[in-house]
Amino acid sequence: MKKKLLVLLSIMLLLFAPVYTTTQNVLANSKHQSTTKRVFNDRNYKGKVNDKNTSTSVLPFIKDYKTGLSIKQKINDDGTIHVRYDGNPSLIANFQTAIATWNKLGVIKFKIVDDSSAVVNVHGNLTSKEDNDNPYYIKGNLGDTNNYVDYNSLIVLSDGTKMNYISNSNIFLYSDVSKLSDNNKNHIIIHELGHALGFDDLYSQKDRGLMMFYNAQTGSTLLNKLGSDEKNSLKHYYQ
Ligand SMILES: [Zn+2]
Repeated sequence: MKKKLLVLLSIMLLLFAPVYTTTQNVLANSKHQSTTKRVFNDRNYKGKVNDKNTSTSVLPFIKDYKTGLSIKQKINDDGTIHVRYDGNPSLIANFQTAIATWNKLGVIKFKIVDDSSAVVNVHGNLTSKEDNDNPYYIKGNLGDTNNYVDYNSLIVLSDGTKMNYISNSNIFLYSDVSKLSDNNKNHIIIHELGHALGFDDLYSQKDRGLMMFYNAQTGSTLLNKLGSDEKNSLKHYYQ
């Protein structure tokens, strides 16, 4: 009986092994949360097709689960969004490249600071122990972005779209990121910063070439670029 159970377990492990390999490719998952512990992740969204609006080219922004409203960063009085990196120093250059990549679009401007004025805080892990110390960590994930919503804010865009501000964002880069090539490290950080700006993941296969596509083949060369889709979307939501 025990032997049979072992055999069954082994078969199950074999069956699940390929599935696990696939989840290694999940780029990033958390969407948004209030002060509750609720965490949204890509796995909850499987089957939901979140794609680019083909008529306006605007990419989808995260909708808060409580209000159904999209969220974005509030711009500081100095015209920038303050962001701080406090993770492992080995990822600092990649963090700086990712910041520069968003700034190059010329719509919003991230400013790297080293004080509590930062509304986006980026944490980078190097060890699996650090990963496991994080209650949000799900094995196999490369990164998470948790956005907290300011429910007392209300923004109405010129087309009538209502939004809330994000009060602060925490980006977690997990230890598997440190094993990637520089190009792919950059990609993961650019992607997570996209979530902090409000961008949601894209799930439609036709959007596979875009930065916010939810899943990436680790080991392959990721796109690592932003273009007119992201630029026009930022203009839509931020100007
Ligand atoms: Zn993502």
